[in-house]
Amino acid sequence: MSRFSHRLSDTSFDLAVIGGGVHGLFAALEAATHGASVVLVERDDYGAGLSSNHQRTVHGGLRALQSGQIGKTRAQIAERRDWALMAPHLLRPLPFLFPTHRALTRSRLAVGTALRLYDRLGRHRNDDVPPALHLPASRLYSVAETAARFPGLVPEGVTGGAVWYDYQVRHPDRLNWLIALAAQRAGALLCNHADAVDLLRDGRRVTGVRVADRLSSTIVDVAAHRVLLCAGGALPALHARFGLGASPRLVRASGLLVDRPAIDMALAARGSSGRMLTATPWNGYWLIGTFQTNVPVESGSNPRPSRAEIDAMLDDTNAAFPTLRLRRQDVRLVHSGLTPAVVLRRRAELMPDSRVIAHGADGTAGVFSIVGVKFTTARSTALRALRQMGLAPAQTSSTPPRLPHGHTDDADARLRAACLAAGVALDDDVFTHLVDWYATEAVDVLELSAAVGGLQRLASGTPVLDGEVTYAVERSHAASLADVVLRRTRLGTTGHPGGAALDRAAELLTTALSWSPETRQAQLAEVEARFA
Ligand SMILES: Cc1cc2nc3c(=O)[nH]c(=O)nc-3n(C[C@H](O)[C@H](O)[C@H](O)COP(=O)(O)OP(=O)(O)OC[C@H]3O[C@@H](n4cnc5c(N)ncnc54)[C@H](O)[C@@H]3O)c2cc1C
Repeated sequence: MSRFSHRLSDTSFDLAVIGGGVHGLFAALEAATHGASVVLVERDDYGAGLSSNHQRTVHGGLRALQSGQIGKTRAQIAERRDWALMAPHLLRPLPFLFPTHRALTRSRLAVGTALRLYDRLGRHRNDDVPPALHLPASRLYSVAETAARFPGLVPEGVTGGAVWYDYQVRHPDRLNWLIALAAQRAGALLCNHADAVDLLRDGRRVTGVRVADRLSSTIVDVAAHRVLLCAGGALPALHARFGLGASPRLVRASGLLVDRPAIDMALAARGSSGRMLTATPWNGYWLIGTFQTNVPVESGSNPRPSRAEIDAMLDDTNAAFPTLRLRRQDVRLVHSGLTPAVVLRRRAELMPDSRVIAHGADGTAGVFSIVGVKFTTARSTALRALRQMGLAPAQTSSTPPRLPHGHTDDADARLRAACLAAGVALDDDVFTHLVDWYATEAVDVLELSAAVGGLQRLASGTPVLDGEVTYAVERSHAASLADVVLRRTRLGTTGHPGGAALDRAAELLTTALSWSPETRQAQLAEVEARFA
């Protein structure tokens, strides 16, 4: 295992984390911050699972309030604020509009009363938060105001609209990487493309994890006193493989990014299935979700919906938002994954709360699992698990970590100064892209790009530079074309980036990583499959 072998086999870690989604990454970050020696293994890439396939909303707990859970609502409002302190550069306030109705539970009186209570519970929501991220109070719209903003609103029974605010994550893949980087800077050892294939045991106690490096096809035994499984939709399969119990049921949940221009407000409406759908603006397009299967699916089953299921989602969407008139060819990207569920009267519903499982009762002391249901609450869930494992103090300071490069500060002034110093003139769209995606790290990207002769665009029409591919490999653990296209750069964030950009990225990676022609073809095929 050339990439990590020396530290993996030489160290006995306090904690091994399996899975580099948002829960595993926060667990690694918080454990390392509290002084533990930590290794994290991720069989694909950081955030390659559910953590890049979600609806991008940092929820403030309005749904919990609907079911009368005041304490949970308050906690989620506080956690939403923590995100604004951790990574202000990567969030933006987003208004959500929901039509009110003659029906009592959706009436202006009921919804207005709930929103007033919500605002009262969230009166500290903007404390210490940068002004650009202050969330306004919620409000009610008239029928005319609602109709003006809600294309294709079916007016029957509508009495107006209710508007509230949450945050939208602007670049989830960048966010995942910055949590990984923060964990690494706190001292954690992070290994992507490294599969946890078995637990090591001494009698009834875990002693580590057997890890297969998927890039070098080598295997190494990693000693660890405790193991935390954060494997998302693979958790039940991993439990079965490791002989652990208490596995969650799963459903397949999905969202569709569609080729229709979006307004800058999320809209909520009921689809033909009866499910409440949200159309969220995402880089100018609508991201529609969340769809889910009504019956549980097996862990290990294909996380992607079938064509027939996508057609049903489109029908559902067209009923909720009739002016969109979507057809299959309008789908730019499908976001989907297997997510924890509860089954009530044979019908599966998304699990409402995350869980931490201690597997001591299964006969393996020292092993725990996180069953995570929201990225919004991932940090508090990770801290809860670490407290149970004795790796975080019972009363952790509520101050959230500041993620690296998450702050705009003077990112554009710094990049301008760096351009001046290097004698580089960037096109406006390239400059804007670098500041928007990398914030203060843009200077490092520029300097490396200049040093390797990579200041030209990957292909015409994209602001992404050749040098960003090199930067992703040399500084950000990228080891595959998918890592670069889907997660370290913005190339694939809103759909296929175009053949020329893909080919050029593959060409640069072929040189950087000494790929054979067959490997290069396989890498291209993997990325093309993501957009199929
Ligand atoms: C359609 C959809 C929309 C959603 N929208 C929202 C939203 O708007 N707001 C919100 O807060 N939440 C939302 N969620 C929920 C949120 O996305 C998830 O709860 C969260 O991302 C799960 O993170 P995770 O770390 O538990 O799982 P994952 O991100 O799936 O990470 C698990 C990781 O474990 C790795 N792994 C598996 N097996 C192994 C192994 N043997 N060895 C090493 N690594 C392994 C996988 O490769 C994967 O990367 C949504 C979910 C879906 C499906």
